[in-house]
Amino acid sequence: MAGKLDEPQGRGEFFKSLGTLFAGFVAQRMEDMVLGSDPGLLRPPGALEEFEFLTACTRCDKCIRACPQDTLQRATGSARFAVGTPYLEPRLMPCYLCTELPCIPACPEGALVWPRRTIKGVEVEGPAAVRLGFAAVDPGLCLTWPSEEDPAEACRTCVDRCPYPGEAIRMVDDPEGGPAHPVVDEEVCTGCGLCEYGCPTAKPAIRVKAKR
Ligand code: SF4
Ligand code: SF4
Ligand code: SF4
Repeated sequence: MAGKLDEPQGRGEFFKSLGTLFAGFVAQRMEDMVLGSDPGLLRPPGALEEFEFLTACTRCDKCIRACPQDTLQRATGSARFAVGTPYLEPRLMPCYLCTELPCIPACPEGALVWPRRTIKGVEVEGPAAVRLGFAAVDPGLCLTWPSEEDPAEACRTCVDRCPYPGEAIRMVDDPEGGPAHPVVDEEVCTGCGLCEYGCPTAKPAIRVKAKR
């Protein structure tokens, strides 16, 4: 009995499958290569997952121009595959989570979509659902912990600047009786960076890390 590959139809299907496999392999390698050199930029609100975002964004600058706070910047040559894409650096200018998130509808390519996510089991949309990343406190820099040079001191600027104080970030008492410390709830935090922007230490003791 002749094998399947001897039949014209079977051979055609075989090469078609091989082509599909090869295309999938190339696409995966391409994605690995692009994400392997990911500089970890913080994307505008509503950005797709990084690889999809890089594919969809045409570097048209429309979201950058739509931002009333001049928060969004254009990535330079050092960003490699991400060059020309919009991003933000909270220490220079955070995202103010505008009620209407005007950067999102400004994108004609669907690279930014109206945010929706489940937080603590509740469906949330709009500014509270934004997820640029999440803030992380560095106890080695935060004033509320003692350092080799200085004693601990009271500070809660990050909590006071946060649009969701008590939810995204709150002060927690020190069990040894020192000043209270800020603690971030990563699930609620939007990554807006208002805390990083306001932190009074020379090098910010709280920083937003990209969601990926
Ligand atoms: S939400 Fe407002 S401040 Fe934040 S990036 Fe969009 S337009 Fe700018
Ligand atoms: S604002 Fe900065 S120094 Fe002050 S509590 Fe927050 S992380 Fe610490
Ligand atoms: S903890 Fe910081 S990054 Fe997170 S929502 Fe509050 S201000 Fe924004």
